[in-house]
Amino acid sequence: MEKKEFQAESKRLLDLMINSIYTHKEIFLREIISNASDAMDKLAYKALTDDKVGLDRSQLKITLTPDQIGRTLTISDNGIGMTHDELEQNLGTIARSGSLQFKQEMAKQEKAEGDATDIIGQFGVGFYSAFMVADHVTVTSRAYGSDEAWQWASDGADGYTLEPCQKDTVGTDIVLHIKANTDDDHYDEYLEQYRIAELVKKYSDYIHYPIVMLMHKSRQKPRPEDAGDDYKPEWEDYDEWETLNSMVPLWQRPKSEVKAEEYNQFYKEKYGDWEDPLSVIHISAEGTVEYKAMLYIPAHAPYDFHSREYQKGLQLYSSGVLIMDKCADLLPEHFRFVQGVVDSQDFSLNISREMLQHTRQLKVIATNLEKKIKAELLRLQKDEREKYEQFWKAFGTQIKVGVVSDYGVHKDLLQDLLLFFSSKEGKLTSLAEYKQRMPEEQKYIYYACGEDAGQLAKLPQAERIRDKGYEILYLTEEPDQFVVDALGAVDGVSFKSVDDKDALPETDEEKAALEQKAEENKPVLDFLKQTLGDAIKEARISQILKSGAVCLTADGPITLEMEKYFQRVDP
Ligand code: ADP
Ligand code: MG
Repeated sequence: MEKKEFQAESKRLLDLMINSIYTHKEIFLREIISNASDAMDKLAYKALTDDKVGLDRSQLKITLTPDQIGRTLTISDNGIGMTHDELEQNLGTIARSGSLQFKQEMAKQEKAEGDATDIIGQFGVGFYSAFMVADHVTVTSRAYGSDEAWQWASDGADGYTLEPCQKDTVGTDIVLHIKANTDDDHYDEYLEQYRIAELVKKYSDYIHYPIVMLMHKSRQKPRPEDAGDDYKPEWEDYDEWETLNSMVPLWQRPKSEVKAEEYNQFYKEKYGDWEDPLSVIHISAEGTVEYKAMLYIPAHAPYDFHSREYQKGLQLYSSGVLIMDKCADLLPEHFRFVQGVVDSQDFSLNISREMLQHTRQLKVIATNLEKKIKAELLRLQKDEREKYEQFWKAFGTQIKVGVVSDYGVHKDLLQDLLLFFSSKEGKLTSLAEYKQRMPEEQKYIYYACGEDAGQLAKLPQAERIRDKGYEILYLTEEPDQFVVDALGAVDGVSFKSVDDKDALPETDEEKAALEQKAEENKPVLDFLKQTLGDAIKEARISQILKSGAVCLTADGPITLEMEKYFQRVDP
């Protein structure tokens, strides 16, 4: 038997794994399974290029065997296997790009926050993650084309041993001796069939080889033919092989072959919603970056949407292996309600979040997705108005905030999605629809801000504008005024508050008449100013009223509602 020390770097990584926090531990299975899948890919590739291999692809599979009594979980594959030297190189040193990257990232994080364990969950951390759940690991392997087998074994800390052993078939068996439960950490679950099946579903569902487990089950015995009326059903235990992963992800199938029901079922299971989504966007993109995506627009905001707990993001897969659960960079803030997955073989499994952010592919995909989401929302607005209004009720505020934030850089993208209440239609309208209805001579898009549409309809300033046949947008939500300010104009047509003194442009005659009226009524105006004093800036004759006698307007560029708002937030 050979005894070896780990390389210094490997030791550090192992140390980190052993002491990792509880929530990360479960990803060990994803890592071991993905290695097994890689090993089978390698063998399959060899078979493509080498006639001698004579491989039957359908025989390739990953077998999981939990043993509760022996406290072991065995992961077996019939992939390419490892020679003595490969075992030593691959499992004894960090030489591979993935782990190297991880190590660098770790050093960076340690400097920044003093806690490197936080990044484990985001990485393809590789084989050593086995030590998060196991205190002893053996790897028995027989390489393709070799007639000897070797066993690698380690308790993590000190080093590993290598010795020859017996193995009849090509491939690798990894035996994890699962740690005992402690007060803080539970490991028993990794020996339980249902939990293992759950982890496979969660992380490795789309691995394209079957992941099988002999499941222990029980069933009712068939009723004997001569059973009498007093027959009581009997149960029996039995074992059955089950494939735990579905292998073909929904998003890899052609759109035309997926039923609406399948899309909805997937959504509800995956995102824990009880209601069908409003819409699904299934994308198969080819070109500079190839990817598949399946995006959902929920029918309502999840319960934690407005809390800090809510994390936006899409699941990111690389050839069927989940590499990030919530990839935030794939979604802009204003579409943070979108759920879904992106799968692209252009990403490597070992890519770190930090690296990912800077990849060109990710940016290309994010930009495309943003366009697709907008297009789908516009389609709903046009063709399925009821659904769109439901969407608007749930997420409209998010869109409005999007218009206002980042100094308005998203406003061109988002303005088409906005809805406001129309004085003319008595319901919500888009700005494009408003503009379509504008009489030719109308110069502005009129709006009024206030508590509710009923109150705004009674506004004295609004009457004259409505009388002209012009439509007014009643803005009743807090961000609305800011939205209008951020937009400024829509395709060259500016917004105008109904209480702006220039709301209706005056002709020269009107101006002259007004001046004369002011002259005639000077005593009344002076009286008002004297009586009210500093409470008002001035009293003046105005043409913005029709049947109303008097109204208050704001001084300067901000409207009265704005002033009220600022008084509320900053009294
Ligand atoms: P990575 O998968 O990023 O290369 P890992 O730490 O997960 O890093 O694995 C290290 C190496 O060990 C792999 O690159 C592979 O060469 C080898 N390996 C691990 N598991 C297996 C396996 N089941 N069959 C064959 N080789 C394996
Ligand atoms: Mg790996």
